Amino acid sequence: MTEIKRESSGVYLLRTENGAFHAKTVVVNAGAYSLLFAQSMGYGTSYAILPIGGSFFFTREKLLDAKVYTMQNPKLPFAAIHADPDCTQAWNTRFGPTAFALPKLERYHSLHIKDLFHALNIDKEVTKVYLNLFKDTTIRRYILKNFLEEVPMMGKEVFIHDAQKIIPSLKVSDITFAEGYGGMRPQIIDKEKHELLLGEAKIADKGIIFNMTPSPGATSSLAIAYSDALALCDYLDIAFDHAKHERMIQTRQA
Ligand SMILES: Cc1cc2nc3c(=O)[nH]c(=O)nc-3n(C[C@H](O)[C@H](O)[C@H](O)COP(=O)(O)OP(=O)(O)OC[C@H]3O[C@@H](n4cnc5c(N)ncnc54)[C@H](O)[C@@H]3O)c2cc1C
Repeated sequence: MTEIKRESSGVYLLRTENGAFHAKTVVVNAGAYSLLFAQSMGYGTSYAILPIGGSFFFTREKLLDAKVYTMQNPKLPFAAIHADPDCTQAWNTRFGPTAFALPKLERYHSLHIKDLFHALNIDKEVTKVYLNLFKDTTIRRYILKNFLEEVPMMGKEVFIHDAQKIIPSLKVSDITFAEGYGGMRPQIIDKEKHELLLGEAKIADKGIIFNMTPSPGATSSLAIAYSDALALCDYLDIAFDHAKHERMIQTRQA
């Protein structure tokens, strides 16, 4: 997708590298790029992005049968580590994520520097938010700890204390850095309120919805799709088939 434009008829023109399309309604789920598309259309101009990267560690064998979460710190709700049996690694256990600021919008795609500067949107207001974050002892310690976790050799020694909350007998020699796993979470900064938004951010207007940082994460994707579908049906003045939706849920659960 290279451009989204609202035409005078109210229909959206979507330009892509594979041609142009028209749509009456659009939902943009493009990570950090959701905000950039929104801003290109005049929305969300009081938002900036703090790109948070996350990495994982693997064990050499399967230690857990199911996902185990640790308690969240309300100041850092996206940061509680968890452990999962990973289907891509013969169900060996994956611990993480770590969380640290990274000058990237996508972890494994090449970066367009212009987009990064646009997304960071650094000005007096954003700098104030960064300074406030650093003033908070919990957040300052967390940033430092997570930075150390990315340092080769030292990272595992620091991370192991978090992993031991889930499996107390785990040793440093049991875990290895999960190369190529992890991603970016674009946390939104509200420049008017001078705060880092910890939950999801959504901009919706005239049949277009921009989703950023679903919270708590991919887990909420279907709930978000459902509420977006309802909102768009409302905009198009058409009825959402609730009975069919319920039937499909029942079929899936059976
Ligand atoms: C390290 C880490 C650990 C996480 N752990 C969990 C967890 O345990 N549980 C959980 O529920 N959630 C977790 N999450 C959050 C979860 O990954 C995200 O909430 C989820 O991936 C968001 O889905 P999305 O489709 O909105 O965005 P994304 O998954 O970011 O997908 C957006 C897609 O849009 C594409 N895109 C961007 N720009 C364009 C463009 N111009 N044209 C076409 N395509 C474009 C991108 O390449 C990308 O493929 C984690 C996130 C991270 C970073």
